Amino acid sequence: MSRRWLFGDQLGPHFLDAPDQPVLMIESRAVFTRRAYHRQKAHLVLSAMRHRAAELGDQCTYVRADTYREALREVTDELTVCQPTSHAADDFVRGLDGVEVLEPRGYATSLADFATWADGRGRKRMLMEDFYRDSRRRLGVLMDGSEPAGGKWNFDADNREPPPKTPTLGVDEPWWPDEDEIDEQVRADLDAWESDGDVTFLGADGPRRFAVTHTEALHALGDFVEHRLPSFGAQEDAILSADPWMAHSLLSAVMNLGLLDPVEVAHRAEEAYRAGDAPIASTEGFVRQVIGWRDYVWHLYWQQPRNYRRRNELGATASLPKWFAELQHESVDAACLSHTLQDVAEHGWVHHIPRLMVLGNYAMQRGWRPSQVTDWFHRAFVDGYDWVMVPNVVGMSQYADGGVMATKPYAGGGAYIDRMSDYCGDCRYNPKVRVGEYACPFTAGYWAFLERNREALQGNQRIARAVHGLDRLKDLDELVVQERDRGSRAP
Ligand code: SF4
Repeated sequence: MSRRWLFGDQLGPHFLDAPDQPVLMIESRAVFTRRAYHRQKAHLVLSAMRHRAAELGDQCTYVRADTYREALREVTDELTVCQPTSHAADDFVRGLDGVEVLEPRGYATSLADFATWADGRGRKRMLMEDFYRDSRRRLGVLMDGSEPAGGKWNFDADNREPPPKTPTLGVDEPWWPDEDEIDEQVRADLDAWESDGDVTFLGADGPRRFAVTHTEALHALGDFVEHRLPSFGAQEDAILSADPWMAHSLLSAVMNLGLLDPVEVAHRAEEAYRAGDAPIASTEGFVRQVIGWRDYVWHLYWQQPRNYRRRNELGATASLPKWFAELQHESVDAACLSHTLQDVAEHGWVHHIPRLMVLGNYAMQRGWRPSQVTDWFHRAFVDGYDWVMVPNVVGMSQYADGGVMATKPYAGGGAYIDRMSDYCGDCRYNPKVRVGEYACPFTAGYWAFLERNREALQGNQRIARAVHGLDRLKDLDELVVQERDRGSRAP
């Protein structure tokens, strides 16, 4: 049996052909010197790799080196590797002698099945909703024969409720893992690298909050399905400032380390539904994330041309300001943005709506360069990898691909944030005010964004009405000057 080279996001048992297969793992310090990752992300990845190596014992050759190339000089065996998850790593392994690259693993839909589905579209758009339905049928997830369980494919309309008027959702806290001596060593190593001046990190150190072994991952999944999945759906898009976790699974970081097979995750949620322990709307909303969105993004990453990451259809060229890039939340008055940056600093994680409608929305409104925004999301989030962030940020969040992924820009003003969160009550700004001292930077930013991109967006039927709404604003000129003056200052 060949030796299997495992990257740091290929750590589950399904990346091996047999439990006793010989393994190579390489811990490259250069990965952390090139970019300033969130401290807790660096900890998570190193901890997960070292835990896997400890589980495998003598079966695993674990090489610590500056670069992969340097490490590979010590390895004489023929190697196989499952297709890595970035274009750069894929190019690298395919350029090596003596390394066979296998099909990717850890995703619900194979490259061949995606290609079949995409080819069958003809000239039709590759809509996530259609891909997701095809995946449900093909994988037999949440199906009653040929019909979707619960009688509908999509329960989004049930899953968009605003938050309750209470400080928290009132569900059990997620299960948190216990750190061990491997975490202690990782922490000591990261401290040493930082004090040597080789490496800098974003955000704060903190207790490890995510699973790093398959056993821990199964525990996190079981705990979520039992205690939190039933409450997941209705308020999955809502935000509560005192409850960052709400009923979210927190499994994205774990799945993106390769510790869980997404089809097994979806089946586990379905079992709870079939047993009457979770409502269909919650179960469907979760399954949609796990085998729908996640795989759609993965395949889009490979299917789009290589220059997709540099697309910038709205011509956004401003630089990411330091206060945002370095998570300086204390310098921000806007309550929603300050809280969200603080949560990212403290945990390296916020759920999909603060990412999309607070962080991404603000970046797009201000015209920050999409490639810089993508790089920042990749570094700042514990679940951020190239394949996830390129389509999600360039396409979904920044609308820089001209509508390949999203049918309209995810731009919103303060009214959306006010409806879906409890931030605005404590804010010095007013979401209804566009101009003046109390003008909400999101509301004013929304109109300034539409005005700046009027020409590019007026042909898009899904946003044309909002663009025409600009003509009714008597204070538009004043607003545009106000927002130009605000520039990249912290709001
Ligand atoms: Fe955010 Fe505007 Fe609400 Fe303040 S008023 S929290 S800036 S949306």
